[in-house]
Parts: sequence; structure tokens; C-alpha cells
Amino acid sequence: MSNTKLRAAVLIVSETAAKDPSTDECGSILQKVFESDGGDQWDVAATEIVPDNALDIQRTITQWTDSGECMNLIVTSGGTGFAVKDITPEINSHGMLAASMAVTPCGFQAVSLNCPYNLYSLLVVAIMSRPVAGTRNKSIIVTLPGSPKGARENLQSVLKLLPHACQQAAGADSRALHAGGIKKLEKEAGVSSGAAVPIYEKNGHQHNRHHHHGHGHGHGHGHGHGHGHGHGGHSSPIAHADSDFHPRSNDPNAGPSRRHRTSPYPMLSVNEALKLIAENTPAPVPVKVPVDANLIGSVVAEDVRAAESVPTFRASIVDGYAIIVSEDVPSTKGVFPVPFFSHAQAGDIPELHPGQVARITTGAPLPPGATSVVMVEDTVLTSKIEKGDEEKEIEILTDAIRPGENVRETGSDVKAGDVILKRGEGITAVGGEFGLLASTGTREVYVFKRPVVGVLSTGDEIVQYDRPGELRIGEVRDTNRPTLLTLVRESGYEAVDLGVASDKPGVLEETLRAAMRKVDVIVTSGGVSMGELDLLKPTIERSLGGTIHFGRVAMKPGKPTTYATIPFKNNAGDRETRTIFSLPGNPASAVVTFHLFVLPSLQQASGISPVGLPRVKVVLDQDLHLDLYRAEYHRALVVMKRDGLLYANSTGAQRSSMIGSFKGANALLCLPAGKETLAKGNKVDALMMGKLVSALDSQL
Ligand code: AMP
Ligand code: MG
Repeated sequence: MSNTKLRAAVLIVSETAAKDPSTDECGSILQKVFESDGGDQWDVAATEIVPDNALDIQRTITQWTDSGECMNLIVTSGGTGFAVKDITPEINSHGMLAASMAVTPCGFQAVSLNCPYNLYSLLVVAIMSRPVAGTRNKSIIVTLPGSPKGARENLQSVLKLLPHACQQAAGADSRALHAGGIKKLEKEAGVSSGAAVPIYEKNGHQHNRHHHHGHGHGHGHGHGHGHGHGHGGHSSPIAHADSDFHPRSNDPNAGPSRRHRTSPYPMLSVNEALKLIAENTPAPVPVKVPVDANLIGSVVAEDVRAAESVPTFRASIVDGYAIIVSEDVPSTKGVFPVPFFSHAQAGDIPELHPGQVARITTGAPLPPGATSVVMVEDTVLTSKIEKGDEEKEIEILTDAIRPGENVRETGSDVKAGDVILKRGEGITAVGGEFGLLASTGTREVYVFKRPVVGVLSTGDEIVQYDRPGELRIGEVRDTNRPTLLTLVRESGYEAVDLGVASDKPGVLEETLRAAMRKVDVIVTSGGVSMGELDLLKPTIERSLGGTIHFGRVAMKPGKPTTYATIPFKNNAGDRETRTIFSLPGNPASAVVTFHLFVLPSLQQASGISPVGLPRVKVVLDQDLHLDLYRAEYHRALVVMKRDGLLYANSTGAQRSSMIGSFKGANALLCLPAGKETLAKGNKVDALMMGKLVSALDSQL
């Protein structure tokens, strides 16, 4: 061991202490533990207090781990923003331990996954007590509870082990250290693990935590069963509680020979998958927005009442003459003087007296006193004024005019205060809803926020679709991203281009983390097949602490479609959920699964009901072979023929890589799995993606 002391940093994570450092007790208590229990080996070189959010924590820790003179040890106290899942003193299951290490921000290496030689001693550190440990670069990071007592006891319980671990992390000859075995480490530290520690498996297979297989991982220590309690003068609880973290995904560090050879995700039916999506889609959130063209596609979040009446004045429905009809007027038939006129424009209009008429245009305000309007067709001109073209007198040819005839009374279309749109109603481009808002002078409405959707392609082979020049062998033009971006926008949602992420675990993780700050829903394509470069599932599950609700669906195309949610703390510190749809890489599969799974979720989140593509019955216009095992979503053109029925024709070859199978398609035929061929004339369900068209021969 070198003569210089080990450098330790203390990070207090607390909303309160960040505002008022005098409220913090942990900092000084931990400092004292280093002094009194640290065997004169420690120099507490830095202490920081940050609020409980991942960004601040991340920034501070990386300063300490990534600078030239990095810390040997970082202890954190408190903090729920530290991991995506809470890291609290109550974390007491080993599965959770591994999970927490895997989800710490800024790419902390989970020691159990990446550092075989550090692995065992560090896991002992972590497992002998409740703290959660990880490494980044050459620093060891140990998280402690936020309570002063818990922080002190936990640090005391592990402090003796930490110099060894720090040396290993800093690059000492870990083989030599390792040679002494865990017993040596334990002896030196005065503790004993007692035995079997259910270490998180390197190859990612799911193991019963209490049934540990010793197959050669390069650290095949004797793992027995049972747990040591209360050694070395302190009794750190060793938990038996089951973890809620059971990653099924491959461990990306395990290498190709360790990856799963069959998918560990259960194969769900499309309906089961849709049910999970419906259950996990966040509830719609009302937002106040201006009434403008962006409103089209939104759903109203609360009843909207008319601010004004339509019309706001008594208006004529026709071109003609305003007249007074009442019991005092014996007949409307006869010749009347025309002293003035009322045009459809703003301004004062003189009063009409009995025995007079006023020329009036459609939509113009009735003169005060007028009761009715007689259509110009029911009159003839009898005389003009001497100079010019103005009418002097007209004759009304009918006696059948009633009070109120051809008049739109004030508020007769819409009364001020009436509900014009109900909560849950959609604002379409057809015209009615927007027209009502516009005509009543409604300037702002509450609608449900429509999710912002980020679209990401993945794969080292993917190049920009418009890159000039020929492709090199292996390169593939990015078909999915531009296609999905247009699809998202056409479906009425704001789309954010997230670019292409390469098949490197860190890159994907960072890209997704950044994306979560910008968008509500992330749609990725590629990286969900069974290859060793397929990183989506492990990244979501292991690095981001997400929950994969399904990872396989019994459908053709689209089998590896993956749906996950990731807990996320926004900059204001509120807990939110981000949704990830990881669609298959093959372009036709990506587009089918977007329509089938992504769209209903976007619709539900924006308050649309019912969700999903409209389903209609269509008659097959040709024979179609069925897939033996999987329900197929077959691209087709549905047309209406002269008999009024809908007929479907396949767009041709349906291979999942062939995006061309979508050309000219407006529907997905829902074909069941089966042995037989469905003959022409059979009826099947079709999901309408595009507009229904009339067959040419059905045009009148
Ligand atoms: P993966 O699931 O990543 O193995 O991808 C399956 C197939 O889809 C591979 O042939 C990929 O090259 C292809 N692929 C993945 N992403 C895209 C994309 N954005 N555009 C075109 N092809 C893609
Ligand atoms: Mg790929």
C-alpha cells in the first residue's frame, strides 16, 4: 500500500440540505467516521451537497471520477434521484442491488457485470451491508442511506473493506489480491460473508438467487447456501426478500457465446400485447392551447362553452327587403317606399317605420323595428329615384309573410354559454369543431396533450437515406427513420428526429437518456432480434431500469416487437414515465407494428377513444396462403366496388424487409394462423391505414 492516503469524497443528496446546508448532519458525521474508523488511511478531499436529481448527482460524481486526480472513493448519502429506481436504505435484496448498480446514471459500470476481478470483493462490500456499490473509472462509489444514523452505521460496516476495493479499482494488481481469495480479504477486514452470495450472473441467465450454478465465469468461488449474520461486531441485515428485478435480456458484456439462443420473452398474442399497452399508457394530461390550426387532431379535455352568441345580431337569411309584419299591418302586399338599405357590414342602421321597407342583403343586420324579410324574388321594382340607380319603391307580391320569417335571431345558431364541445370530443379537419370554436370567438381551450414522439434508428450498418454515392458492402440506407417520422406527423403527433444510434451499449444508453428529456414516447427500430448486437432490451432493462412489458408477439411480421416503460424524473423533479416502442429493424415490420401498437398508445395518451385503426370486413379478391403459426398482417388495397362491398387485393410479396409491400396499400388484412389457403370470396377483417377508395368501375 502506498504511503499517501486514499482520497474520499462525500456527496450529500438532499433537497432540503441543498437549499440550506446548515440542515445537513450527514456530512460531518461521515467525515468523523473516516477519521475515527478509517485507520488513518483516508483523506476526505471533498464534500458536496446537491439536490435530489440525477443530473446534479451525475455532474458532481463525474467531476470526481473523470478528472485527472480522481477520488478513490465516493460515498453518497440519501438521494432518490440517484438511480432510476429508488436507492434507499430499504434496498435490501441482492437482485435490487444489481439492478441499482445497473441503472445508476452516467454509465457507472456495474461491477458485477464488468469487472471480474473487482467483482467479488465489491460484492462482499455491498452484500455484507446494505450500501450499493459500483465503480466508475478508478473510483468506487458507495451509496448510503440519507439518515445520519443509517449513513454512519453503513459506512462503518464497509469502511474496512474499502481500501482493498479502492486499490483494485485504481489498478493495483488485482490478480495478486485476488489470489488470496475472499477468505483473505474477509480475514483482513474482520468480517465473513459466511458463504453464498447470490451473485448476479454474468451471462444474464435467470437463476434462482438461492441456487447458484458455478459454471466457469472466471470467478468460480465456492458458493454455498446460507447467509452469515452479525459478524465483526455489527449486524448488517442480509436480505431474503425477492427482487422485483429479473432481467430477461442478454448481458451485452457476456459475448456472443453467452447470449440466449432462444428468446426468453414469452410470446404474446397481439391482443395480449395491446392490453399491456393500454394498461401502461400514461393517462392523458390536459393543457391549455390557443385555438389555431395545430388544434386539429386534439381531443377536448373539458367542456367548452360559447363565449359569444352566433349570430350576435338579428340577421337576414336572404337578399330581400326588411319589413314590419304585425297585427297592425293589414297586408304586406302592395307598394312600399325603400328609404334606406342594410348591407352585411358593421355600422348603425336607421329604424324602420310601419309602411316602409329597407333593402337588405344576406347576413346583414335587420333594422330596428323590422320583424321579417321578404325575398327579393317575391318583389318587383316599381320606381327608381330620379338621379342614379337607387330604388325608390318596390311592390311586394305576397301576403303570406309571417313575423320572424327569413330572420336568424340573435343566438339562434349558438347561444353564449352553451356547451359547444364536450370533453372527449375530437377536433377534426372536417370542419365542425374548429368552426364552432372560431365562430364563437373561443381563443383558448383545454385539450389533452399529444405525446411528442422521438424516432431513432439503430445499427452500425445504417447510413443516412440521402447520403450520396454508392453503398459499401454491408451498408443499408435508413429506411425506417424517415418513414416513421412522416407516419408520426401524418398521424397528428409532433415527431423528433433522434438520428441513428450505433450498436454500442453506451451510445444507445446515452441516446435514450437524452431522448427521454426531449420526448414522451421513443420509437426505435432494429436491435431487437436475437443477435449479439441487439442491445435494446438489455439497455432498457439493465441500464435504464425500465420494465419490458413484452418482448415478443405472435404475429407476422413484427415478432420481436418490444414495449417498455422507463421511470423518469424530469428537471422539475417530478416522476414521469417514458414509453419505448422498440420495433423490428425490417422496414415492413417496423411500419406494420407502428400502425398496430404505437398508434393506439399515442391515441390513448391523447384522449382519443376508441383507439386503433378502423376495422372493417372485406371480401378477398384473390386466394391467400395462411402462415401456419402466426397471425399475419397482410398489406392490401381495399376498394369499394359497385355492389357497395369492400374488396381486398394483396400488394404482392410480403417479406418483412420489403417496404415496397406498403406501396399502394391502404389496409392490413388480419389473417389468422392456419394450414389452409383462404380462397377468394372469403371475408376477413381489415385495418384501414389509409383512405378507402372506390374502384374505378364503381365511379358514377
Ligand atoms: P436488427 O433487428 O437490428 O437485426 O435489424 C433487422 C434487419 O433490419 C437488418 O437487416 C437491418 O439491417 C435492417 N434494418 C434495421 N434498421 C433499419 C433501418 N433503419 N432501415 C433499413 N433497414 C434497417
Ligand atoms: Mg441492428
